[in-house]
Amino acid sequence: MHNRDYLLMLRILSAILDVFFPRTCPACGRLLEEHDAICEECLTRLDRTQQALYRDNVVETIFKGEQHFSYGGSWLWYQKGTYLQKMIHLAKFGRGNPLWLEQMGREAAKEWNEYGFFDGIDVIVPIPLHPKRLRIRGFNQSEAIVKGMSDVLNIPMDTDHLTREVNNKKQSQSSKVEREHLKEGLFKVNHPEEWYGKTIMLVDDIITTGSTFRAAMHAMKDVYNCKIVVFSLAKSK
Ligand SMILES: [Zn+2]
Repeated sequence: MHNRDYLLMLRILSAILDVFFPRTCPACGRLLEEHDAICEECLTRLDRTQQALYRDNVVETIFKGEQHFSYGGSWLWYQKGTYLQKMIHLAKFGRGNPLWLEQMGREAAKEWNEYGFFDGIDVIVPIPLHPKRLRIRGFNQSEAIVKGMSDVLNIPMDTDHLTREVNNKKQSQSSKVEREHLKEGLFKVNHPEEWYGKTIMLVDDIITTGSTFRAAMHAMKDVYNCKIVVFSLAKSK
């Protein structure tokens, strides 16, 4: 099933279920508001990085010098044993909640829009998932985040231009250096000329080493005169 149809179906199903079974916050057990997947209080308690306020933040340091890279940031700190880790972990194993990710995307967009972080961005691009992974997880978590952001910011989501190439070698069987190398050529930009001169924000759930973003930037090297902004929901500490 197409990712977007899947998300729509989930939303409808969840709205029907709400009538009969009131939902509770997965982090604390409180009753949830109609459109929420996590309660206000737990949202407030998430560990903000405030990177939107600082240039040369940790994320920018990772990508400094990459072609077309302009600026970036992660909304939250990702740490072991937290509610955030639990939710992202569930998503990785196909038991995640895209509505939760959408809500996180909306909240991040509202907060950082106040700081002007998204000013001048033409399109938002979720990092595509490998088709095999997409089958396991049922949805692309980056796309769910971008859906929420795009709704708040009124900036279109673009899932057409950046695509993931199929690689046959198992990543887990290769060394770390080799893995980095494999990630070159992992993505492809279709019709790069349509992105010429645009400011493009790439979005993923977590930044750890930054190698996935770097591979996407590598694929974008021939997109003449573009600017790349990087955003992730969280950054591992
Ligand atoms: Zn809660």
